[in-house]
Amino acid sequence: AESAKSFFRRNAFVLFTIAAVLLGMELVATPGIIYKYGEMFIKYFSFPGELLMRMLQMLVLPLIVSSLITGMASLDSRVSGKMGMRAIIYYMVTTIIAVFIGIFMVIIIHPGKGSKDKLHREGRIEQVQTTDAFMDLVRYITFLHGIPVPENFTSIMENVTHALGTISEVLTFEEVIPIPGSANGVNALGLVVFSMCFGLMIGSMKQKGRALREFFNCLNEAIMRLVAIIIWYAPVGIMFLIAGKILEMDDLAVMGGQLGMYTLTVIVGLLIHALCILPLLYFIVTHRNPWVFIAGLLQALITALGTSSSSATLPITFRCLEENNGVDRRITRFVLPVGATINMDGTALYEALAAIFIAQVNNYELDFGQIITISITATAASIGAAGIPQAGLVTMVIVLTSVGLPTEDITLIIAVDWFLDRLRTTTNVLGDSLGAGIVEHLSRHELDAQDCELGNSGIEEK
Ligand code: ASP
Repeated sequence: AESAKSFFRRNAFVLFTIAAVLLGMELVATPGIIYKYGEMFIKYFSFPGELLMRMLQMLVLPLIVSSLITGMASLDSRVSGKMGMRAIIYYMVTTIIAVFIGIFMVIIIHPGKGSKDKLHREGRIEQVQTTDAFMDLVRYITFLHGIPVPENFTSIMENVTHALGTISEVLTFEEVIPIPGSANGVNALGLVVFSMCFGLMIGSMKQKGRALREFFNCLNEAIMRLVAIIIWYAPVGIMFLIAGKILEMDDLAVMGGQLGMYTLTVIVGLLIHALCILPLLYFIVTHRNPWVFIAGLLQALITALGTSSSSATLPITFRCLEENNGVDRRITRFVLPVGATINMDGTALYEALAAIFIAQVNNYELDFGQIITISITATAASIGAAGIPQAGLVTMVIVLTSVGLPTEDITLIIAVDWFLDRLRTTTNVLGDSLGAGIVEHLSRHELDAQDCELGNSGIEEK
C-alpha cells in the first residue's frame, strides 16, 4: 500500500492530466455541442487553455536567461566545454538520424502518388529567399536581429509581451505566414547565445562576479517555484487546449487520399524516431532503462502535445527532469534551454519528409544531390525554427527553395499541420530530455571531480 501511495503521489499530475484530457474529449464528443453554441462557444471553451499557454510563455524568457547564466557561471570552463561538446554532438547525431528516417519513410511509402489537384489549399505564403533565411540564422545567433534594441526596461517588457502575445495569432494563417527573422517572435537563439556568453564571463570573474551569480541563481529559483504552482493548473489547461482544438475541427474529410497517407507517413516516422531510435540510443550510452526515464517525463510530453511549443513546455521539462528523474541541475540548466532552441529532431524529420512529399505531388524527380541538399537544409531549418507552434512550417521555405520546389505548395499541407506539429513538438521535447540524461551520464566523471574540488560548499547551490 505504501508503494501504491508513493506511486500515486509521484504520478498524480500525469494521471490527473490524462483523466482531464479524456474528460475533455468526452465532452467534445457529445453530439451537437458545437452547432448548439457556435463559434463564440469555442472561444470561451478554449480560454482556460490559452491562459496556460500564456502563463508558460511568461516564464520562458526569464527561465532561459537565468538557467543558462547560472549554469555557465557555476561550471568551470573545462567542464562546460566538454559538456557543451557532448550536447552538440548528441544534437547533431540525433537530428541527422531523424532527417534520414524522414527521407527513408517518404520514399518507401510514397504518399504523394497521384495528381496534385486533389489536394486542397489553405492560407497564403510569402516568398523568402534561401540566402536571406540563412543570413537570418546568423543574425539570430549573433543576437543582432529579432528583439529590437530597447531603450529602457519597460520597452523590453513591451517588446517581449508583444512578441509572445502575437505569436499564436500570427501563426493562425489567416494572415500571411511571417518571414523568418521578422520581429514576430522572441529571438530565442540569440538569447541563448547571449546568456551563455554572459554566464561564462560572470563565471570567469571569480569573486567579483559573485553578486550577479547569486542574483541569477535566485531568479532561477523563483521562476522554478512559480512553475511548481503553475503545474497545478496545467492539467486543466491542457484539457481545454486539446478539447478546444478538437471542437475547432470541422472537416475531417480532408484526411483522405494523399494528405491522409502523408499524415500517416509523418506519424510512423516520428514514432520510429521517438520510440525506437532515441530510447535505444539512451540505453546504449547509459545502460539504463529508457522507459523508466521516459515515464518521468510524461507530464512534459503531454504538455508538448497540448501546447505544440517546446519553449512553452520548457518549464515543465525542467521540473520533470530535475524532480522526477533526478538529473543534475548543472546539466539541465545548460542542455535544456539550448536543446529547446536548436535541437528539434521531430521538426527536422518533418521538414525533409514534407519537402519530398511536395516534390512527389508535383511529379518532380529529385536526384541524389538534391536529396542531400534537402537533408542539409532540413537540419538547418530545424535549428532555425523557434520552439513555437508551427514554426517548422515557416522555416520549410528554406528547404523548398534550396531545391527549386514551389513554396506556395506549403499551403497544401497546412490543413493537417496543427496536428503533426503537436507530434513533432513532443518528439522534440523527448529528444532534448533524453539528451540531458545522456550528457549527464557522460559528464558524471567531471561533475564529481568538480564536487570534490570545491567541496559541496563551493558550489552555490547546484
Ligand atoms: N512547434 C515546434 C516546437 O515548438 C516547432 C515546429 O513547428 O516544428 O518544437
